[in-house]
Amino acid sequence: MAEPLLQVSGLATHFRVPGGVVKAVDGVDLEIGREEIVTVVGESGSGKSVTALSVLGLIQPPGRIVRGSIRFDGVDLMELAPEAMRAIRGSRISMIFQNPYTSLHPYFRIGEQIVETLVMRQGESRRDAVQRAADMLERIGVQAPAQVLTSYPHEVSAGVCQRTMLAMALMSDPELLIADEPTTNLDAVAQVQILDLIRQMKSEFRMSVLLITHDFGVVSRMADRVIVMYAGRQVESGLADAVLGEAQHPYTVGLIRSVPEPGRSTQRLHQIAGEVPDVIRLPPGCSFRPRCPRAMERCGGQPPMAEVGEGHLARCWLHAGAPAS
Ligand code: SF4
Repeated sequence: MAEPLLQVSGLATHFRVPGGVVKAVDGVDLEIGREEIVTVVGESGSGKSVTALSVLGLIQPPGRIVRGSIRFDGVDLMELAPEAMRAIRGSRISMIFQNPYTSLHPYFRIGEQIVETLVMRQGESRRDAVQRAADMLERIGVQAPAQVLTSYPHEVSAGVCQRTMLAMALMSDPELLIADEPTTNLDAVAQVQILDLIRQMKSEFRMSVLLITHDFGVVSRMADRVIVMYAGRQVESGLADAVLGEAQHPYTVGLIRSVPEPGRSTQRLHQIAGEVPDVIRLPPGCSFRPRCPRAMERCGGQPPMAEVGEGHLARCWLHAGAPAS
């Protein structure tokens, strides 16, 4: 089997703060094959964005990766010098974040920001950079690209702004795109358009995508494989069809049930009771226990990851008869 493009093993990223240690990520394994879309899904505070920042080498003190390894195309990213990591980030690995308006500088025209990136990172002449920026905006479906290039970020819609971020991310022909909640703050139409565009660009650029979301509706639209995170830990993973069709962890079941179904507008949406726990003071045993409708006495101990189907894993005592190999 071909080596995955990205392989994260046993990742733990902690933050030492005055009240203790925040175990934002505490045991994540993920692989992304070439031209594959993997979604990491969970509520706010589950550790999914910290996982992405760890891969990008963007964890700042008091945060620190305390365990695990991150390999990209066979290279151990945690062993790289900062300059070598910078050379990979923004070229072979590109990213877009959830609020496009805060990703662009409000005082500079959109074109200046794209062109500056191309001149600085790829050594292009300004004239070539302007032409390439216009071509890329057109390629990703921005109407009147010349006008957008001369606009300030606040003069265009959030959807156009996010398309611009995607254009900047694609300029370096990346092998991996990391998209952190790319549709948050967009209206429903723009959300669908951005997701479809990411899928289309994935094929055109033959890249892989690590997509972070809290929404199983996004997972069902986009994912080849899915990883579900809760309180810094991976609780379920597998092929998207398997996880969506036969979710085994009660948290995953709750997340899927909270997605509105088309045509049932009057139906009350399911909500998972309670809140994600404070990761400084996690409850003993299974972290989901205080919210779990199926909790039992055994759940006071830490559940192991168990294989519940081919390549389908769940960390839950309901399935603990089959430990993962
Ligand atoms: Fe619920 Fe227990 Fe499974 Fe945790 S281990 S998800 S508390 S059944």
